[in-house]
Amino acid sequence: MKKALLFLLSAAFCVAAAAQVDQGRDLSKYADDKFGIDDQYTVATPYETVTVSPVKSKKVKNVILLIGDGMGLEQISVGWVLNGGRLNMDNFRVTGGSRTYAADKLITDSSAGGTAIAAGEKTRCGYIGVDENGNPVESLLHYAQRKGKKTGVVVSCRINDATPADFVCHSDDRHKEADIAAQYVGSGVDFISGGGRQFWEGRKDGRNLIEEMKALGYTFVDTDEELKQVHEGKLLGLFAPLDMPPVLDRGPILEDSAEKALELLDNRKGFFLMVEGSQIDDWGHRHKVGHVAEELFEFDRIVGKVLQWAEKDGHTLVIVTADHATGGLTLIDGSIEDRTVKVHFSTKGHNGIVVPVFAYGPHAEDFAGVYENAELSAKIRRLIK
Ligand SMILES: [Zn+2]
Repeated sequence: MKKALLFLLSAAFCVAAAAQVDQGRDLSKYADDKFGIDDQYTVATPYETVTVSPVKSKKVKNVILLIGDGMGLEQISVGWVLNGGRLNMDNFRVTGGSRTYAADKLITDSSAGGTAIAAGEKTRCGYIGVDENGNPVESLLHYAQRKGKKTGVVVSCRINDATPADFVCHSDDRHKEADIAAQYVGSGVDFISGGGRQFWEGRKDGRNLIEEMKALGYTFVDTDEELKQVHEGKLLGLFAPLDMPPVLDRGPILEDSAEKALELLDNRKGFFLMVEGSQIDDWGHRHKVGHVAEELFEFDRIVGKVLQWAEKDGHTLVIVTADHATGGLTLIDGSIEDRTVKVHFSTKGHNGIVVPVFAYGPHAEDFAGVYENAELSAKIRRLIK
């Protein structure tokens, strides 16, 4: 009897776990991690940062939008201390603040936060690229397409997860990921890189979206080595069944994808590229400051590469921001010299503080001040010509 009960209980648990995997982040690997035990971190070897000079041009040809999911000023400050008092983000001379609240909630989720940044419309939590009433709204990416620019999205989460989907897709439910994935087909996005492969093949509707994309002329890759060999055309990279593993396990795939995007998207009419440091958020939810820092470091290394590229190009606007902060992270002790921090987390969810906007390149000064996340989007849109 006892055995049967145990079996039933574990079967029920498995169903619950499967449902969780299907609907959101793959937390299964970290299920035995206890919240609240990783509040200290020390970095042995800091990475080198770059220095760039301001550009003189007033012409915006390319826009690169770098979003740290769940990256508030505290996350950045923690990373800055741990890297010995320097980050590539130190290069920005123009800073602003973005208010992140959603249409229906003070504390936003990623889908409403991302929709506001992508489309200039505050909407309800759970909504992807649609307004409060569920009507589709045009993202900066699609607007840039209409202006004849190439476009790209590069993330380390599922490509059909909230933030990237906000730029490409429309849905009144972020959990309808199979539908959302299918919207990439025919979206015309030139460069797509992330995780979430299980929503693209082996689908209930029998469609194989990877094959459909290949038929549309996309080169498909699923390893870093393959990615590096592509030098032209449209690219679809799906590097994990769900979210990619933590940065220390997955390697520099996000960095390499961002660099490859710059190579493939650069063209006479310009491009719009969104890169997300997706997992800064995940580790804020799980109260793992070390993982938060490592994800932020990779994001900041991408910022460094993008800034160097933009400096050389001269006509590229670079914006760094976040959709919200996560975890109620507070830096309470540490040492810049010893590259160590002690922090406190106050919530397992997001928190409602104004998040930073950093700007570099032509018209960077337009982004000073404190404004709504939707206004950030409008500011960028005005500069896409
Ligand atoms: Zn988010």
